[in-house]
Amino acid sequence: MVFNVTILGCSSATPGWGRGLPAQVVNYNEQLYLIDCGEGTQMQIQKFHLKANRIRYILISHLHGDHYWGLPGLLSSMSLQGRTQPLDLYAPRELAEILTVQFRCTGIVLQFPLHFHALNMEQPTVIIDNEQLSVSTLPLVHGLPTVGFLFREKEKPRNLIKERLPSDLPFEHLKALKRGENVSWQGKLLTASDYTRPPKPLRSYAYCSDTRYHEPLIDHIKQVSLLYHEATFAEDMAARAYQTFHATAKQAATIALKAEVKQLVLGHFSVRYRELAPLLNEARAIFANTAAATDGATFQIA
Ligand SMILES: [Zn+2]
Ligand SMILES: [Zn+2]
Repeated sequence: MVFNVTILGCSSATPGWGRGLPAQVVNYNEQLYLIDCGEGTQMQIQKFHLKANRIRYILISHLHGDHYWGLPGLLSSMSLQGRTQPLDLYAPRELAEILTVQFRCTGIVLQFPLHFHALNMEQPTVIIDNEQLSVSTLPLVHGLPTVGFLFREKEKPRNLIKERLPSDLPFEHLKALKRGENVSWQGKLLTASDYTRPPKPLRSYAYCSDTRYHEPLIDHIKQVSLLYHEATFAEDMAARAYQTFHATAKQAATIALKAEVKQLVLGHFSVRYRELAPLLNEARAIFANTAAATDGATFQIA
C-alpha cells in the first residue's frame, strides 16, 4: 500500500534558489493529505503532477504566512474546477475567521463542503482516525502556537498462507487466523503461526516544522519510519535559531538520533543557504541516514 510524502516547498519565510514555500503531500493508499499550503502551492501541485481533487484533508501547522497564504487560492481553484467532494481542514481556529473574511470580501462561495476543525494547539490530539491510519498533533515550540503532525498506520491483520489452507475453510475461521487465533477444523488444529505470516511492520511519518529544538518531542516520535524536521539554519547560527524559534541541522539530527527514527529529511531552509551541503553534512555527522528535501522529491515511508 502506497505511503509516501512529496515535498512541494522546502524554503522558509520567502521562496529562494528555486525552493517554494512550505507544503507537502502525504499519499496513503491514494488518499492525499496536504500539510501546510504556502503561497504557490497550487502551482507546485500542477508542476509535480499531483491531483488536487484527490486531496481529502488539509492540515495547517501554524499561521505564519509562509505556511498558509496559498490556501484561499487553492480552495477557490478547487471550487472553480468543479469539486463537489467534501474537504476537511484542520488548522488553528483563527484561520476560519481569516478565510471567512477573504471569501466574503471577494464574493467567493465554495461549491463543495469545507469542514473546518479547530486544532487544540496545546495537547497532542488524535485528529483523524480511520481504518488504516491515525493522524495526531505534536505541539511544538515556535513564535506562534504551532503543531506538527504524526501519521501512524493501524495494526494490520496477519497474512494468510493460502497454499497451506484447506480450500473449504469457512470465512469466520480465516478471519480468526488473521487475528492470530488458532482454529479447529474437521478434527484438526490449525495454528495461526503455521497458516499465517506476520503483517508487515507498521509505518509512521512525523512532520515537525516550525520549531525550536524541543526534547519532549522525542517520546512522541520514537522510532518513526520517517521524520521531517525543520533545519532553518546551520549550527553556527544556533543563537539566531533560538531567538527566532527555529532549529539547526545539527539539532534536527540530534532529535532523530535520540528518537531512533529510521530516516531524517531536513527542510524549511533559510534563503541564506543556496547550497544545502553544509546543512546536510552537519546533520549526517550526527545521524547518517539524513536527506535534504528538494521540491518535487518523493520520499517513501518504509
Ligand atoms: Zn515557516
Ligand atoms: Zn513559522
